Amino acid sequence: MSNYLGIDIGGTNVGYGIVSEAGEFLYQHSIKTNTCNSAEELVDKIFQDVKKRAEFVGVGIGAPSVNQQTQCIEYAPNLNWGDIIPLAQLFSDKFNMEVSLVNDANAVAIGEKHFGEAGELENFAVITLGTGVGLGLYVNNQLVIGAHGLGGEIGHSIIRRDGRECKCGNMGCLETYIAKDGIVKTAKEKLEFSSGGSILNTISPSELSPAEIFKAARKEDPVALEVVDSVTKDLAFAISNLINILDLECIFLSGGISKSGNILKRKTEKHLKTYVLPNLHDKAQVKISILNEKNSGTMKNSGILGAIASIYAKMSAVTI
Ligand SMILES: [Zn+2]
Repeated sequence: MSNYLGIDIGGTNVGYGIVSEAGEFLYQHSIKTNTCNSAEELVDKIFQDVKKRAEFVGVGIGAPSVNQQTQCIEYAPNLNWGDIIPLAQLFSDKFNMEVSLVNDANAVAIGEKHFGEAGELENFAVITLGTGVGLGLYVNNQLVIGAHGLGGEIGHSIIRRDGRECKCGNMGCLETYIAKDGIVKTAKEKLEFSSGGSILNTISPSELSPAEIFKAARKEDPVALEVVDSVTKDLAFAISNLINILDLECIFLSGGISKSGNILKRKTEKHLKTYVLPNLHDKAQVKISILNEKNSGTMKNSGILGAIASIYAKMSAVTI
């Protein structure tokens, strides 16, 4: 059995691990993204660390704003390493082995297929909910990357005309409502118009987070419940568009915000009944990704496992 190096690059942390093809972690570590001034520095730091750990035969990487055709990161808003970064090339030059670079949400979908609950599914989506909102999509058992390798940007699907301003330059994008900052913004707006007495008023505005908001909602806090209702309605709106267009079997929720678990799933399913076409009602399941349980602290092991699955599939000529 071979081992691989899996790397999950995020705007805040870069997690990496040496993992067997069965998904067993032999070594794992994470570094702050902003401690690297360039992609070359990141590649060098990881190389210096892992070369003394365990043997591996290939490198899989999941990262934001990846063009899977060119194997470059292109114009990533949360990485300060230049506009076009030939990341796969940098890694293969340094490590002298096979490298696979995939979009981070695609990595999680590939991981769900190989290590999670999507093994037998041919039409499913993984939605990652965190700092942004990403989509990994399988249709007819094929990962969808689009004509230019850039597909899956569900976070920038427009759900409100003339809505909130988004970093991408558009208005009303999904992630301005249901990603981390969007949820906190909605909570602050609702708190302004509430008569007080919310648990959320006891948290300093700079500490307010989706985790705290969902926690308060589980305690039936009225303002937090309103926020969660609004977030799950918007999420259901986006998911129902996917189901109505693609007739999916399952939608997995992944990423930090999906750790809110049952309340997120339950309320999203409730709103889906409104938006999904009657003949597709109850045909698609919503599940919280079980790979989430492998995430701990700053380590997003679901992202690393996805990167491992992508390089394993590439090197063993398995279709992903
Ligand atoms: Zn946008």
